[in-house]
Formats: sequence, C-alpha cells, structure tokens
Amino acid sequence: MPLVSMKRLMNHALANKYAVGYFEAWNMDSILAVVDAAEMTNSPVIIGFGGQFIGSMKRTIKENIYHYGSLGKSIAENAKVPVALLLNEAHDIAMLINGLKAGFNAIMYEDHGISLNELIDINKYLVRTAHYCGADVEAEIGELPNADISTGSISQGRKTDPDEAAYFVEETCIDALAVSVGNVHLLENKKSDLDFELIKILRKKIKVPLVLHGGTGILPENLKEAIKLGMCKINVGTILKRGYLKSIQSYLNDHEVDMMDPHDIIGRGGELDMLSGARESVADEVVKFIKIFGCENMAHLI
Ligand SMILES: [Zn+2]
Repeated sequence: MPLVSMKRLMNHALANKYAVGYFEAWNMDSILAVVDAAEMTNSPVIIGFGGQFIGSMKRTIKENIYHYGSLGKSIAENAKVPVALLLNEAHDIAMLINGLKAGFNAIMYEDHGISLNELIDINKYLVRTAHYCGADVEAEIGELPNADISTGSISQGRKTDPDEAAYFVEETCIDALAVSVGNVHLLENKKSDLDFELIKILRKKIKVPLVLHGGTGILPENLKEAIKLGMCKINVGTILKRGYLKSIQSYLNDHEVDMMDPHDIIGRGGELDMLSGARESVADEVVKFIKIFGCENMAHLI
C-alpha cells in the first residue's frame, strides 16, 4: 500500500473519534515492530524516527537520514495497513529537507530556544517545501516539560497559549499542532496531569488536528478523555525503548549465551532469537496503545 498522508489519517481519526498513534522507532527491528502491531490490529499507524536522536550531538557514529527515510518508506509501502512516515522533532532544518527527499511524508521541526517570529519563519519555509513534495508539517506551540528518570525531576515547560497557537497556525498553514497541556516528555511513571479545560479551548480555537506528545506518561483513562475532547494523534516513544531493554535484559538473565550458537541468539529469528523477542515486546506495547486509542480495525475504512 502506498504511503498515506498523516493529515488524512488524522482527519479520519478526528471524524471517527479515535486517535492514530505515532510510535517512534530507532532501528529496523523497532519500526517493523510498530507495523507488526498495526497489521495485527488492522489499524492505521504513523511510523518514523526522532530527528533529535538521529541527529544527536552525542552520536559517536554520524547517521545518514537517507538510510532511515528509505527504510521507513519501503516498510510503509509494503504494509497491509495505511501508514504515514514522520521525521519527528528534528532541530536541524537541513535534516528535515533531506528527510523529505529520502521519503518521509511528514516532518516536524523543534527548537525552544528561538522567538515566535523565528519559529513562524522556519515553519513557513518547511510548509512551502513539504507541501510542494506532498508532505505534511507538524509543529509545537508551548513547551512540554521533560522528565529525568535519573533524578526523578520534571523540567518547567510552558503550556500552550490558545491565542498564540491560533496566530501561529494561521500564519504558517501547518497541518497539525502539538500542544502542551500537562503532558510530559520521557515520563515513565504515568503521572502527568492533563488540563482538559485547555484541550477544550484549543480544540475550539485551532483549525488543524491536535497532537498529544508524551503518551508514555499518561494514564489510559486520561488518554481516552483527551481523545474524546478531540486529540487525534498521540505520540509514544519512551515505553517502547523500555520494553525493548527489559526484554533483552530478561533474556540475558535467563540464558547462558556463551554456551549458545550466536546465530540462534541473533539473526535466525527462531524461538531463541533475543532480538526477535525484543521486537515482539515492542509490538505488544504498541498493540496496547492502539486499543486504548480506539484505532483497532480502522484500517479498512481509510
Ligand atoms: Zn515529542
């Protein structure tokens, strides 16, 4: 099935009162796991990679965005369900433009260190370029707090101002707006406190679909309530990496790998394959969220 536009998936979700998930991957196993889950549940899905991770300054080996775009596009085009491909939260404009060339059909720029006017100018440029390529643009107004698991602290953040958001959307013609409504990035203990009143106000004022980042740290009942109020795309990342790690950790605890054939552990894909098990654990997490989002069995309706 060819790539489907993220806007089309979001509009279908909005019209049918569910949310489509963006499940952030980091390599081939994880992006395949997301598609496994979408196919198992007959759901539309947004797959993709985090620009801030692929382009991280901490990387010891520099990555090429073309590899990620080609991989994602090929996987999307061979999926049995409708799939959009997002390059999420990149700080680097060149990476986003190259991402469009590489096959991503949705992009998002992120930088909280610049003025509103600068953010508008950058997004106008991205919208012009992306729309020319048939791709969509997501942007964020306000700033999500970040959780730090090592200290247990949560940074300040800034809730989305409805007037500023409406002005921004009008000026830039972006396709989707991510909002800061009590949701927290990287939060794993399920305690973010959503501001449902603010979501209601934003839904009324903003003309484009709304996106909720930080899905890992939100209770299922609060996710459902946010969807009822009009959130139609929800981002999930952290919990997928956690699930992957836990699966590998428990495998290593349970097996004497030094005494085993390494091909059985990695690459053969049989019952003993550690990475296949980790892929399945990511898919299991994704399935749980797809069910919470009400997205199951929506694929054939698009
Ligand atoms: Zn995010």
